[in-house]
Amino acid sequence: MRVSFEQDSVAGADVGHKAVTWIETVAGPRPAADVGVADAHAHLWIAPRVPDAPALTDPALALAELADFAAAGGTLVVDCQPGGCGRDGRVLARLTQVSTVAVVAATGFHLARYYPAGEGPWALGGDASRIQFERELRQGLAEEPTVRAGVVKAAWTGDGGDAERDLMRAALEAAQRAAAAVVVHTDAGAAVEGLVRLVDDSGLTPARVQLSHIDKRPDAALHRDLARAGYVLGYDTFLRPKYDPERHVWPLLRAMIADGLWPHITLGLDLVDAASWHVRGGAGLRAVGRRAGPPAPRGRGRRDRTRSRRRQRGALPRAGQGSRGPRGCWGG
Ligand SMILES: [Zn+2]
Repeated sequence: MRVSFEQDSVAGADVGHKAVTWIETVAGPRPAADVGVADAHAHLWIAPRVPDAPALTDPALALAELADFAAAGGTLVVDCQPGGCGRDGRVLARLTQVSTVAVVAATGFHLARYYPAGEGPWALGGDASRIQFERELRQGLAEEPTVRAGVVKAAWTGDGGDAERDLMRAALEAAQRAAAAVVVHTDAGAAVEGLVRLVDDSGLTPARVQLSHIDKRPDAALHRDLARAGYVLGYDTFLRPKYDPERHVWPLLRAMIADGLWPHITLGLDLVDAASWHVRGGAGLRAVGRRAGPPAPRGRGRRDRTRSRRRQRGALPRAGQGSRGPRGCWGG
């Protein structure tokens, strides 16, 4: 996100944390203090450019879902679809004209398979893409020049060769120059070690790099190392049975909280199917702030269960809100 910073400290954790003081939304800069529960990896609109890509193309439904999110306390979503593969800044702008939920738009690049052949950042190359990303952060989106991007999306597989490295460098450099954050789509956390080397070379502080989907690689030691190095870990498998959230992301989240590293975590749901929205009968965006956590393991005493629930309830809303919430990690 485009942010400015002030020194802050985090109780119980010396993590070099600095607070974000404002966030660039499609409706303009918004004080970070106004942001409560947020979905840090969301999708409201995807008009796919290729067959077999996720699609979300019903603005009325998106608006209803945002209203439902707002009613549950939601205040902000980061729409993680970059330009050229489904983003429409005009739709995002209209949604925020009628919704109280703030929306952050993304510039940057996604996996090559989401672009028609010969189009988009993969065809443009690193240098031209860096200019394009920076222009969308500083001036406005290609399709809606009155709306600025607030974050740079980037995709990292670690085996995309020079083209992937060039685009990643372009994303990191644009973010560095425009004081923005980068949301990295990782392939289930693969090859983040190589990405860390690129971030080091770029000079961008790791606190401006959110590693999405890293909870699909639930290696607690790796997560601790990344958090202690300053990275922001984007956890987003809470509603994905395929990734066994009860066995993976929830224990991981508890372990990170216990170690005082929760300011380095953002929560998201990454819902790309309208059937997952609450207005269509799914858990919906509201789940990011409302879910109290998985049931306590069987066999515990009543007092322990109560304490455990309270701890989880306390942890989750804070994970998306307040001056010490994970969104604060986007600064630094
Ligand atoms: Zn996504």
